[in-house]
Amino acid sequence: MAYEAVWMDRDPSKLNKFEFYKMEKDGLDIIRDIVEKYSKEGFASIPQEDFNLFKWAGVYQQKPNTGHFMMRIRIPGGVLTSAQARVLAQLGRDYGRDLIDVTTRQAIQYHWLEIEHMPDIFNRLEAVGMSAFEACGDCPRTIVGNPLAGVDPNELFDTTPWVDEFERFFLGNRDFSNLPRKYKISISSNIYNSANAEIQCLSFTPASKTIDGQEVLGFHVLVGGGLSAKPHLAKRLDMFVRPEEALKVAIGVTTLFRDHGYREKRHYARLKYLVAEWGIEKFQEEIAKLIGEMPSLGDDRTVGWNAAYFDGVHPQNKPGLNYVGLNVPVGRTNSDEFDLLADYADKYGDGTIRTTVSQNIMLTGVADDKVDALLNEPLLQRLTPNPNRFMSRTVSCTGNEFCNLAIVETKEYARRIALYLDEHVQIDEPIRIHFIGCPNGCGQKHVADIGLQGSLVKTPEGMVDAYDIAVGGTLGPGAKYNTALKGRVKSDQVGSVLAQLILHYKEYRESGESFHRF
Ligand code: SF4
Repeated sequence: MAYEAVWMDRDPSKLNKFEFYKMEKDGLDIIRDIVEKYSKEGFASIPQEDFNLFKWAGVYQQKPNTGHFMMRIRIPGGVLTSAQARVLAQLGRDYGRDLIDVTTRQAIQYHWLEIEHMPDIFNRLEAVGMSAFEACGDCPRTIVGNPLAGVDPNELFDTTPWVDEFERFFLGNRDFSNLPRKYKISISSNIYNSANAEIQCLSFTPASKTIDGQEVLGFHVLVGGGLSAKPHLAKRLDMFVRPEEALKVAIGVTTLFRDHGYREKRHYARLKYLVAEWGIEKFQEEIAKLIGEMPSLGDDRTVGWNAAYFDGVHPQNKPGLNYVGLNVPVGRTNSDEFDLLADYADKYGDGTIRTTVSQNIMLTGVADDKVDALLNEPLLQRLTPNPNRFMSRTVSCTGNEFCNLAIVETKEYARRIALYLDEHVQIDEPIRIHFIGCPNGCGQKHVADIGLQGSLVKTPEGMVDAYDIAVGGTLGPGAKYNTALKGRVKSDQVGSVLAQLILHYKEYRESGESFHRF
């Protein structure tokens, strides 16, 4: 089921210039051009207008501007097999200078790729059922999910089949490869909101409803969330959705976005603006016109927010098996570590590796009698299940090491700040700290206890790196984005300012009070 596009009748004189590139050539066509033309004729042969479409291949130009690219690989729901992980490790080794970053959408990211490498990378990914395509671009991106799906003691039901169904339907689907802008979907029945539902364009969250005297498990649906300079929390539609009807709802919502989303000003082209301007009631009416009436809301089964942190050893839904959450400091790992994780997944676990939206990794299916041996592996000294307080909860975007939009460096800086805080501040609860290098929000600073956004500040010596600080973000019940504090802090003072802020909280918090309520 798909609906005919009706947006083409827009007044062309009002469309933003990006819309013309997309009308000229579908974003997905760039994949063919990369393989058949640019990888053979080299970097200098690529015209500027085609660089704009590289995102559909999962590829961006990176900094420094030396003809290198960053590539993002989709990991639907955050579940990888050991065979896939080995291919990712080898690709990183062959082409990406060994670097592998875990992103806040459960994907992995390479850097330093060259145009000549692309066909081989695409082929080797395809051979193990993986893809970089549409990991970026104005299209449905990687479907984010519960990384513990299928083994989770805190999920209503296994959402793997629905993540897979969405992935099969949307990936490469030319009915939906030209959306007004990026489009983010999550599906999870984890009752602790492990896929960050409120920040997605479209999310399916755990719910139940009594129908004909029977309890039916399914989803509630949120639409119109998103971060960047003007963050919006997603709003709930009045509907209960059986899992087998989730794709129908997704197609309806995506069709509304494709056909009615704004294509005039690009910064205004996200679904969140359409939902905000229409209001949720009108959005509900329009979706009903496309897919028919759905049952009204059932019981919401989300009870809290774990921010996708799973560190440590925990029992799975079946007795005798465990998942082991490992900390990946600021999401950065490498090919050798990925190979070792694949070995551990086969030797101690169920042969899978799971990535989280907190930029960390889990091994699952570890039998009780194998846990100690896994914990004794040398790699678990660095990717530890028992990380220090601040390192365990620090997230960072790519920053100006590789990102063309960044104002400041973030990843290594964030790691150093976490080390500093672990040395100087003792506190008995985790404080989540997120760093972003520009207002785009890839490091999701808005949901952090303390969010830092890179900027510049004028000093007598010239412009220097600085950060705006915001406090008190949370998702799940009581969701709210954090609030900016006044002023801007020079980067060499951020560590001590954060230490004072956290110690102030520690001293004055009341019993049971958490950071976002302080
Ligand atoms: Fe780049 Fe900005 Fe995204 Fe960071 S938040 S990765 S600096 S676009």
